[in-house]
Amino acid sequence: MTARYDRLLGALREVALVNSVLAVVDWDEQVMMPPGGAEHRAEQKAWLARTAHARQTAAEFGDTLTEAEHEQADAADGSEERAVLRQARRAYDRAVKLPGSLVEELTRTTAHAHHAWVDARKANDPSRFAPWLTKIIALKQQQASCLAAPGQSAYDVLIDEFEPGETTAHLNEIFGALRTPLVDLVGRVMSSGRTVPAAMLARDFAVDAQEALGREAAKTLGYDFERGRLDVSVHPFSTSLGPGDSRITTRYHANRFSDAFFGVLHETGHALYEQGLPAARYGTPLGEAVSLGLHESQSRFWENLVGRSRSFWRFFYPKAQRAFPAALGDVREDDFVAAINGIRPSEIRVEADEATYNLHILLRFELEQALMTGALKADDVPAAWSDALHGLLGIRPDTDDRGCLQDVHWSGGALGYFPTYTLGNIFSAQLFEAAQRDLGDLDAAFERGEFSPLREWLRTHVHQHGQRYLPRDLVTRATGVAPSVEPLLAHLRRKAHEYYGV
Ligand code: ZN
Repeated sequence: MTARYDRLLGALREVALVNSVLAVVDWDEQVMMPPGGAEHRAEQKAWLARTAHARQTAAEFGDTLTEAEHEQADAADGSEERAVLRQARRAYDRAVKLPGSLVEELTRTTAHAHHAWVDARKANDPSRFAPWLTKIIALKQQQASCLAAPGQSAYDVLIDEFEPGETTAHLNEIFGALRTPLVDLVGRVMSSGRTVPAAMLARDFAVDAQEALGREAAKTLGYDFERGRLDVSVHPFSTSLGPGDSRITTRYHANRFSDAFFGVLHETGHALYEQGLPAARYGTPLGEAVSLGLHESQSRFWENLVGRSRSFWRFFYPKAQRAFPAALGDVREDDFVAAINGIRPSEIRVEADEATYNLHILLRFELEQALMTGALKADDVPAAWSDALHGLLGIRPDTDDRGCLQDVHWSGGALGYFPTYTLGNIFSAQLFEAAQRDLGDLDAAFERGEFSPLREWLRTHVHQHGQRYLPRDLVTRATGVAPSVEPLLAHLRRKAHEYYGV
């Protein structure tokens, strides 16, 4: 008997439909909308968000869920039904615990805070954003107190929202295992006396040729343009508007090759995950990505483990040289590959190399915890940021727009989000090792331009499961062992050895 369960699936799909309309207007806002449309767009989005929340928290929805749980009481552990009920219950319980007034206040505050952050960043003046950060922290503390299980800390609640099952204590263990080896590795690279010239990446790269090359790379990796698009936006992103429509964006700078190219590979990784979800399960937890950490593992997988590998460029470099004869015609493949793998402490997270990247995340993870407990006040963030960066990478940001004002996340209320980037890096290295073990010599395949076996491996082991398993369990099933930092550290040490001889 599945009548009630089927009714639940129908109710879930209705909520998903509203949210997918929200995704359409959001994509349009970031890619197409003239500035004059902003005010009305905010109204449209608020209405859609309210509508989705109202459907999701309606008594009728709650009854349907409870009836489906009774009907499926005997469903086996590990079955699809169990997974759907678990995820639907989790989402419902969270949604009904949040008063609509708080949801609205958070939406309104972060809308204003975003503009304040843009201004503060432009003016390089953190004091313009600090009052908003203080207000956001207070609202996030309220939100956490609505959602917290007994004894659960506010920051744990926020993390769990982005990465189900993850905790501050466990993340502390992970970062504890990363900190010393990474600081040590970067230190050895810096004192190796070797530098990797990268000036050729700042030559003249015509934007239309960049776009054509990015498109070709995405297609090569298996991004289906019949079910997607590549456009331009201020902040690169990927979004799914529904089955058959997973879009990506990037931004181009004529004197920066890496930004757009690796940005496209990154977003392609996100979109391949979305394109690999089972369309027939759309609107239910089985048709949705399992967590931000897993999502980020997919983007970093294609961006770094594939896209910065020597073997990928053995295949792709001739195409890049043909696209940019003036900029790359006289650059040897080896020198180009070394340039895109350079390791160097820098201030900006999104431009950081693979080795220093996780130290940028560690900094944010520690500051967020202090902000949530009240140990750190918004006014003291600039100094704390500078000290933390100095402690980890030996440098200080010249200006606050290159320091504490560089990231958009806090202005949107996304506290607890940053750690998922490091989880993504950890998962991606472990998945890559496992794929290599299962598929044999991936380098040889890359050199021939063959990426579909790898993509299919991810589809089988990650994409097709949706939210059937919890994030860490999914990685364990895919790779045969529990997630660990070792594959990532091994990957980074190999690179440091290859390019710096340390
Ligand atoms: Zn990403």
